[in-house]
Amino acid sequence: MTMTNSEPTYTRPVTTTGNPIEVRDLHKSFGKNEVLAGIDLTVTNGEVVAVIGPSGSGKSTLLRCLNRLEEVTSGEVLILGENIATAKGKTLDTVRQRVGMVFQHFNLFPHMTALENIALAPLELKMLNRTEARGRAMELLTRVGLADKADARPASLSGGQKQRVAIARALAMSPGIMLFDEATSALDPEMVGEVLQVIRDLAASGMTMVLVTHEMGFAREVADRVVFMADGKVVESGAPADIFDHPQEERTQDFLSKVL
Ligand code: ADP
Ligand code: MG
Repeated sequence: MTMTNSEPTYTRPVTTTGNPIEVRDLHKSFGKNEVLAGIDLTVTNGEVVAVIGPSGSGKSTLLRCLNRLEEVTSGEVLILGENIATAKGKTLDTVRQRVGMVFQHFNLFPHMTALENIALAPLELKMLNRTEARGRAMELLTRVGLADKADARPASLSGGQKQRVAIARALAMSPGIMLFDEATSALDPEMVGEVLQVIRDLAASGMTMVLVTHEMGFAREVADRVVFMADGKVVESGAPADIFDHPQEERTQDFLSKVL
């Protein structure tokens, strides 16, 4: 074997564009059920992409493939320059830490205070010492409007407050990308607004985000681009006004006629 200085001794897929998210021909099957049938998706720095589509179309699976909560069947998932579909060990851990995810259900630790929930991951991963982690958690609680709830346990918080703590917890790792999977779907209607406001503020701060949402009005307002999925494929994507006002594909028109 010959090696030269100009050639690396390993190969690693790299994004040619420097985009935080590049998904290429992503396929995902559960047994014989092909749930993602060749997804291509590019998200540029600071872009907010809303993913909409009928239940069962593969939206959650797509998000879960972006931080490898699901193993990818084939294709490339380039996250911050690393192919997370094949990354291993430390590389995988590092990339995952840079992708914050917020789910429908908050999964806060019930025996910990709001502040402790937020400080936990940076402390456990030794990214911050105790004082720093608590300081950062306090900063984030302030950012989501809950500075006065630092010592409250989840059981004493409303659904909207719990979800805001969950967002602060995801932000504690200083992610480069935030993923939201129907973050407001489990909330009582009067609490949806306060959570959307936090997401709106994040968008304004320049965070790169992918949001799966049922809130069409919110998608229109906050997203730079809307992606409509059906049957594991991207059917159509474009500026919110184009997708919502002038959908080109029949599947999109049909879906929007039911939800708008
Ligand atoms: P959406 O979020 O758009 O409603 P999902 O990504 O949750 O869609 O699901 C897409 C399809 O994948 C559904 O048919 C669902 O039953 C299937 N699916 C999702 N997760 C799993 C799993 N862990 N095992 C088997 N099938 C799954
Ligand atoms: Mg889903």
